[in-house]
Amino acid sequence: MKSLLIKNGHVVDPANGRDELLDVYIRNGIIKEVGKRVRRKADETLDARGLYVVPGLIDMHAHLREPGREDEETITSGTRAAAAGGFTSVCVMPNTTPVIDSQTGIKYIVTCAQTNGVVNVYPIAAITKNRQGEEINEFGDLITHGAIAFSDDGRPVMNSEIMRRALEYTAMFDVPILDHCEDLNLSEGGMINEGYTSTILGLKGIPSSAESTLVGRDIELAEFTGGRVHICHVSTRPSIELIQLAKHQDIRITAEVTPHHLTLTDETVRLSSFNTNTKVKPPLCSEMDRQSLINALLSGTIDVIATDHAPHTNIEKDKVYTEAPFGLIGLETAVPVLLTDLVNPGIIPFSLMIEKMTISPARILKLDRGTLSVGAVADVTLITPKKRWVISAKRFFSKSANSPFIGKRVKGAVHGTIVGGRLIYLQGKMLV
Ligand SMILES: [Zn+2]
Ligand SMILES: [Zn+2]
Repeated sequence: MKSLLIKNGHVVDPANGRDELLDVYIRNGIIKEVGKRVRRKADETLDARGLYVVPGLIDMHAHLREPGREDEETITSGTRAAAAGGFTSVCVMPNTTPVIDSQTGIKYIVTCAQTNGVVNVYPIAAITKNRQGEEINEFGDLITHGAIAFSDDGRPVMNSEIMRRALEYTAMFDVPILDHCEDLNLSEGGMINEGYTSTILGLKGIPSSAESTLVGRDIELAEFTGGRVHICHVSTRPSIELIQLAKHQDIRITAEVTPHHLTLTDETVRLSSFNTNTKVKPPLCSEMDRQSLINALLSGTIDVIATDHAPHTNIEKDKVYTEAPFGLIGLETAVPVLLTDLVNPGIIPFSLMIEKMTISPARILKLDRGTLSVGAVADVTLITPKKRWVISAKRFFSKSANSPFIGKRVKGAVHGTIVGGRLIYLQGKMLV
């Protein structure tokens, strides 16, 4: 395999506390040297002047829809969307058709990713059979075949006894449960966040307690069982307060937030005149909630930024608001949106954003990635902070275009993506 020297880039590697101008030398897919003025002969040299050089981003929450809904996304298209978004690893949710709840399902994802994927794909298996919330899967067997975590995402495990057993079982392997917290009785029929905006718009609301009641329950169960709970897509202040308290008590809990919950609110639904690409679960919340999410990111209460990339076709989304499905895509917009709305205005530091998208998810999932340490696999993302552009559906590699950020003016972009030492994406072009 070729050697590659990335010269004069601004290396930001939170795992090693690096934030300075350095060269990165890669050989045989491994990082061999990181330092000032590296003098090595390389087959290829990449001038990274003016670019950030960061560990390959990891998205621990994405839906690539294959098998079953290849009209929305496939592993082929979804991993290309990931590469274009700077993600060198994606963890894929099991709510496909069929549900990934067996050895065969895990093998299918692994094989398909090896054949058709361009980034690393890690399968997440379902907690319960067919995500019915009734019978727990064979966790040990699924882990042996490659499952890195368990989730019934899209649906909560409403039965507390089942959740207790699932946490006891996963605790034996020290693997986390990725927890979609939504009390279905409270959220039933709801379209957007319950509050002033839902009243004005005449849409049935989803109260914030639909999320926080299950967050509270699962914190209790994590403490009781010793299992690890990772709260997916946290969206409200009450949930943040519960997670903060649990962390102070050393309960084994981690949490993630999405770029859309960090940057949009329920007002976006009104201002966009019911754009169905703002319809998502959990719903976009109030400005007060959004501020508490940002503070939680800064304080460490939230560990990870994950996209919850959830593709739907135009036919599905081109409906009245009440009938469109929930979900939006995020792999290709995460970096520019976070830079434009949070990093550039000085709300969060760039290095914090990178930490939450690299070493932090890697530690939770025990992935041997997320750093630029010597000896690590050479997954690297290059980011240009100055480029001004407008997000457009035409540029998406995803099969779907259900993004509320289409038309948004942004500053900052993914410049290039390197997976295992191989440059696979550069300035808008997929090289594989
Ligand atoms: Zn979910
Ligand atoms: Zn999801």
